[in-house]
Amino acid sequence: MSPDNGTAINIFSRPDALKPSHFQWCPGCTYGIAQTVIAEVIDEMALKENSVMVTGIGCHSAFIEHLGCNTHLALHGRACAVATGMKRVRPELVVFTIQGDGDLAAIGTGEFIHCAARGERFTVLFMNNGIYGETGGQQSPTTLVGMPTTTSVGGRDTEQSGAPIDMLKMIASFDGTGFAARVSMHSPGVALAAKKVIRAAFENQIDGVGFSVVEILNTCPTHWNLSPVDAMAFVGEEVVKQYPTGVFVDRRAGGSASPAAGSNA
Ligand code: SF4
Ligand code: MG
Repeated sequence: MSPDNGTAINIFSRPDALKPSHFQWCPGCTYGIAQTVIAEVIDEMALKENSVMVTGIGCHSAFIEHLGCNTHLALHGRACAVATGMKRVRPELVVFTIQGDGDLAAIGTGEFIHCAARGERFTVLFMNNGIYGETGGQQSPTTLVGMPTTTSVGGRDTEQSGAPIDMLKMIASFDGTGFAARVSMHSPGVALAAKKVIRAAFENQIDGVGFSVVEILNTCPTHWNLSPVDAMAFVGEEVVKQYPTGVFVDRRAGGSASPAAGSNA
C-alpha cells in the first residue's frame, strides 16, 4: 500500500524471530497466531540471540521448527526441569518453555508446581486447548466438563474424571510466583492484548521477581470436531467461562494484578 506521496507503508511483515518454514498445524489451530505473537515480542525486546525456548512434547513441539531463537526439545513433561538448569547456569538469558496441557498439566505437573514453588526465574507459556492434540484427541486434565473426546465419547464426566484443573489459579497462589496471567488467541483484539502480557512476563523474568507463567487459551478444531470459525467462537463464548483471562499476579514494581483487567472480547 502506498500513500499519495509514494512512501510505502508496511502493514504486516514476518517477524525476524519467525523462520520462513512451513507451518505444520491444522487449519484453524491458533498455535500459529500464538507463535507470531511470541516472535513479535522476541523482536521487540531484541531477545533472538539472548533467549532459549524449551518445548515439551505435543503439537506445540513444532515451535522448534519455526521460532528463530535458541531452542531445545525436552522429554515429555520435563521442560520446566530443563529450563531450571539452563536459567541457573545462564541467568543472563531469557529462558521460556512452551508446553501443552497434556505436557504441563498431566505428565509434567510435578516439575511445573515445584518450579513455581521455588520461584525459578524463567517463564512458562502454557498452551491450553483442553485436549491431547498430537496423540489423537484424548481427554486431558483441563478438558471442559461435557466436552467429548476420544477417551470420553459421552463428554467429560466429573463423577468419573473429576473437574478440570485450573493450573493458573493454583500457581497464582504460590509465594514464588512473580507473574501469572491468562490470555487467549481467539480474536485479533485478544491476541494483541496477549502480546503485552507475554512481554510483561519476560520483563518479570529479567527483573528477577519470581516464577512467571502465561496460560494461552488455544483452539483444536480438529479434535473438537468444530470448524475453525466455530472453534474460535467456542473459546470466546465457552472456554473463557471455565478459564477467565486476566493478570492474576504481577509483583513487578508498580505492577497491577486483577483478573477483571482481562478481556474476553
Ligand atoms: Fe492444532 Fe489440534 Fe491440529 Fe494439533 S491436532 S495442530 S492442536 S488443531
Ligand atoms: Mg493440548
